[in-house]
Amino acid sequence: MISVVIPIYNEESLIDELVSQTVFALEATCSDFELLFVNDGSKDNSMGMLLNHQKTDHRIKVINLSRNFGHQAAYTAGIDYMQGDYLVLMDGDLQDPPRLIPEMYQMLQSGEFDVVSGYRKANASNKSRNVATWLFHRLFSKVSELEDVEHIGNFSMMNKAAADALKSLKEKTRYLPGLRHFIGFRTTTISYQRDQREVGDSKMSTWNLISLAFDAIFSFSKLPVRFCLVMGMLGIVVSFLAGIYILASKFLGLSPLGWSSTLTSIFFFGSIQLLFLGVLGEYVFRIYRETQNRPIYLVREFHSKAKVDN
Ligand code: UDP
Ligand code: MG
Repeated sequence: MISVVIPIYNEESLIDELVSQTVFALEATCSDFELLFVNDGSKDNSMGMLLNHQKTDHRIKVINLSRNFGHQAAYTAGIDYMQGDYLVLMDGDLQDPPRLIPEMYQMLQSGEFDVVSGYRKANASNKSRNVATWLFHRLFSKVSELEDVEHIGNFSMMNKAAADALKSLKEKTRYLPGLRHFIGFRTTTISYQRDQREVGDSKMSTWNLISLAFDAIFSFSKLPVRFCLVMGMLGIVVSFLAGIYILASKFLGLSPLGWSSTLTSIFFFGSIQLLFLGVLGEYVFRIYRETQNRPIYLVREFHSKAKVDN
């Protein structure tokens, strides 16, 4: 059985199309599958539409979260509820084309691979968003141990062993492409053109994207804390040299250092300290969030019609 997890947040305009395309692709792939829709606190009629589909097709299941938890949390909910032997993670806006599922399935069936990730050839969407995404990916691919982050997102298919490994990672800071990289396994990619979203707007606000980028950087690289350490060491060297210069000028009777240099160094070290406190704060906040141990998502209701055996 294949389990397809699809997070949904205010997608009423494309749910019908999404269901028909996905069911079509899955029927061409194997005889048994479940479509696990995770309604992430939608404010439109998405939930009602999902329920209509769920009532007429026993292969469709709907997890209704108690509020909007964000799309990484919604994916996590779906992964926890999946019952299949294969797992597909797919966005609900048809930017991840369901028609690739049969091919991904075949790649896994060959037994050579455990995970197939979608590899985006080019992103033809929103230009300003593109620059920001591009910048993030450039920075992130330099500082993290992850490969090809520029091209690999959530869209992927994996077998049960890999899905179980993913399930076992309970950290609260969720960045699934990173977690999928962390678990290892034999992975391969399938190239596709990620088209513009045809219906509706992106449901990820700029702020959501920034906080996802922070989560990715802080949980998959040592860069921030390393940067502070290196800057701190440089600061010590600079102050040491400056100290020698100040002492020398005092003893040699050169003119005293003026206001400007004093103020500049106060501002310089003051802001460096604030920056470092901020970086430390990010880590402390993340540690705090882990120790609070709140659930990643909460489910209000799970709709699934038991399969009738004949
Ligand atoms: N999504 C979600 N919760 C959110 C934001 C988005 O479940 O808080 C879903 C959304 O419905 C879509 C998927 O996550 O199925 C990807 O969102 P979107 O297409 O808006 O992101 P983008 O592709 O622009 O990064
Ligand atoms: Mg999208």
